[in-house]
Amino acid sequence: MLEAGSLVRLTRVWVSLLVAVATATAGPFVGWWPSIFGALSALQVATLDRRVARSARPERYVAASFLSTAIFATAGAATSGGPQSPMLVLVALPAILMANRFRRPVVVAGLTATLAILLLGSVAVDPGSFAEDPSLVLVTCALVIGVVVFTLSLSDTEMALREDARVDHLTGLHNRASLASRFDELRSQARVTGSSIALVVYDLDRFKSVNDDLGHDRGDAVLRDTAALLRRHLRAEDLVYRLGGEEFCVLLPGVGVTEALEIAQRQRESIEEARPGGVAITVSGGVAAARGYAIAWESLFQHADAALLRAKREGRNRIVVDGDDDAADADVDLPAAA
Ligand code: GH3
Ligand code: MG
Ligand code: MG
Repeated sequence: MLEAGSLVRLTRVWVSLLVAVATATAGPFVGWWPSIFGALSALQVATLDRRVARSARPERYVAASFLSTAIFATAGAATSGGPQSPMLVLVALPAILMANRFRRPVVVAGLTATLAILLLGSVAVDPGSFAEDPSLVLVTCALVIGVVVFTLSLSDTEMALREDARVDHLTGLHNRASLASRFDELRSQARVTGSSIALVVYDLDRFKSVNDDLGHDRGDAVLRDTAALLRRHLRAEDLVYRLGGEEFCVLLPGVGVTEALEIAQRQRESIEEARPGGVAITVSGGVAAARGYAIAWESLFQHADAALLRAKREGRNRIVVDGDDDAADADVDLPAAA
């Protein structure tokens, strides 16, 4: 099955090809000016489309694209017989460009404007011809609406897939894939404000024996309940992720090592007391924290993971802080990763 994003790209390629074929075929009959306008229009839409992807203010590029395509299409139509011109199809391009990038009200507004330009433009170029045979303009309108509706539904699927890829279905927590972008945001904020970020990495103790002794379904129940317990007692800005298997992590923005250790201890105790999935199970955790420009995911994770390993080695069911044991009393400034 094709991924929805590829389908959207494929749709665009097909539409562009159709427009190219339409203008090239009509060239010998209506002259080559429309083809030149068509090529220019397609070229600038492609250029603006790339910019839209990188821009923080994409609406400017969409407006520019919309306007210039309308101008090219009107110029093309004027030089090739008004309402009967194959150039009218080009008006579809900016509407398609908008369809999978903007919210539905914006797309509907753009579509309405597109159709208004299309109808008013073609009537203005040659009113008599439109009255005689409006079929081409009406077919073009239907084409524009059809392609936009199709692209919108593909875009909805793409959004759903993206959301799907970020969430772990067993626990409902975000997964490792979604952690990187969130961490980058938090790190940028912490660098500006000079505040700290703490990371706690958890691993259930002897979880394999739950699966072996009580079955995989019971193991799943333990994981679900553990996730719910980890979410409890956290502030809205704290984030819990399932890293994979029976490993979880908690990101604590603005929290130093001492407070993170207290939070982790509370979470460890609550898991031990609650018996997730009805099973007496414990958790080990490793804590690390960094501040301002020293914050980097690789080094923070390495330090927390090393602390977790120590917790396992020292007998499990405990939280260990990165560095020496005194580090629990102060924020640890980690070197930034290269
Ligand atoms: P340790 O205390 O050293 O961490 O021991 P452990 O048994 O927890 O460690 P190990 O990594 O050997 O076991 C992890 C187990 O987690 C193995 C795997 O079968 C199980 N597991 C991973 N993902 C899932 C899952 O989604 N559901 C269930 N039920 N089990 C899972
Ligand atoms: Mg493990
Ligand atoms: Mg384990």
